[in-house]
Amino acid sequence: MKTIDKIYINGEFVSPKGTEYFNLISPTTNEKLGEVILGNTEDTQNAIDAAKTAFKTFSKTTASERIQYLENIKIEIEKRKSEFIDIVVEEYGGTFQFASNSFTYMQKSFDSAINLLKNYEFTKTMGESEVQMAPIGVVGIIIPWNSSNGFICSKLSTAIAAGCTVVIKPSEMSAQQTQLITECLHEAKLPKGVFNIVNGLGEVVGNEISRNPDIAKISFTGSTSVGKIIAKEAVNTMKRVTLELGGKSPNIILDDADFSKAIPLAVIAAYMNSGQACIAGTRLLIPESKLEETKLIIKEVISNTIVGDPKNPNTAVGPMVSEKQFNRVQDYIQIGINEGAEILTGGLGKPEGLEKGNFVKPTVFIHVNNKMRIAQEEIFGPVLSIITYKTEEDAIEIANDTNYGLQAYISSSDPKRAQRVASQINAGRVQINGISHDPMAPFGGFKQSGIGREFGILGLEAYLEPRALIQQK
Ligand code: NAD
Repeated sequence: MKTIDKIYINGEFVSPKGTEYFNLISPTTNEKLGEVILGNTEDTQNAIDAAKTAFKTFSKTTASERIQYLENIKIEIEKRKSEFIDIVVEEYGGTFQFASNSFTYMQKSFDSAINLLKNYEFTKTMGESEVQMAPIGVVGIIIPWNSSNGFICSKLSTAIAAGCTVVIKPSEMSAQQTQLITECLHEAKLPKGVFNIVNGLGEVVGNEISRNPDIAKISFTGSTSVGKIIAKEAVNTMKRVTLELGGKSPNIILDDADFSKAIPLAVIAAYMNSGQACIAGTRLLIPESKLEETKLIIKEVISNTIVGDPKNPNTAVGPMVSEKQFNRVQDYIQIGINEGAEILTGGLGKPEGLEKGNFVKPTVFIHVNNKMRIAQEEIFGPVLSIITYKTEEDAIEIANDTNYGLQAYISSSDPKRAQRVASQINAGRVQINGISHDPMAPFGGFKQSGIGREFGILGLEAYLEPRALIQQK
């Protein structure tokens, strides 16, 4: 049993003023792993004060000083690689495969921030003016549980690159993962107050970050509903917001695709991170004439998909993070049945032998129409809806008929055709014939999948304010 009883403010591990405990429960066994003390409003204010003071000097550091800090963090994180992987598996129930990829993602965040800093011009000439790109101020970072340290690394590395200081509020369910990264950041010896980390509830710590006038910007990743609450609060003090929200990503398989490759890839896209991924390709769009072929391949792929102990390196689908999340996914499977969709594989209940944890049967629905709730709402579990289409235009229309627009997938044997279709999809990223992450390209959503972009130059500039100096001659 582990007790996490410290938060991190002004370069030190300190006891929070908050006294409430939150239980950390294993998603794999539902046994108690430990507990964390939750920070309160006063703790959040102390963290914001420390970041505000640190900003005065950190905002004046040079790019090469900041590159050094980023390199130091990367070195400290690298030293504890196996612990990072193990804790994601234990605390979050992330599969070993996901946890390993997540570690690579963390490290690449620092590489791309360093790369940006080496090349970015913080002073430009525009018209007759000198335009200075100034760090925006103290940034509030609020993140979910589904890739906790991945989000800390991508947001913190960009903030440091820009010369900003931060207050981070992770999910209370990620306290052990947070403890580990905080120890690494502490060892990296950044100036006091540059980063501060407060465990706590969204309605308390997150709310104070959204409200506090000393926060200049919020970088939030999480659900669309909480994103809206934060944006409404933020506007009172005109905080800048970057919101990375939910998704219901379409995966269009064009009729000329190699189905023996595209369908297994579609299953990976749908069930990545056990289905708990904002970018999961959960709407599979198939030409009507290819439905029977698709059904056969899907059944075969899913019969070989290992569900179970996330420690097993071959496991593809682990448990849902919490009982609440398990119940949410079950409710959606029931909604799909009630709406008249047909279960091709999977369904309600836990897989045999996995009754202790929050395991869901990987589920595929056929005869789904795009108006159904299972096609429109984010389920955040391993549930895939197959929707058939008649023509390419029809496929594009269905793909875009959603409130979301975070990511999309297209498979075709003709790259020009895939490019033409991709250019008509309203999503921040469109993956063609595969799945990868480009840390120098923008990431973010159209429509209700968010506001703004992360990564690359656009991501960095979201932490900067342009100041134009107009000298009269
Ligand atoms: P969530 O929105 O419930 O919580 C996210 C964070 O916001 C948590 O730290 C939570 O404590 C905090 N929060 C909750 N209420 C708050 C409030 N009133 N004020 C301020 N902060 C508050 O999301 P979740 O359940 O933790 O994560 C799943 C969601 O995250 C999914 O909808 C998923 O699509 C989304 N997500 C998006 C991306 C992306 O990059 N677009 C990536 C991963 C997850």
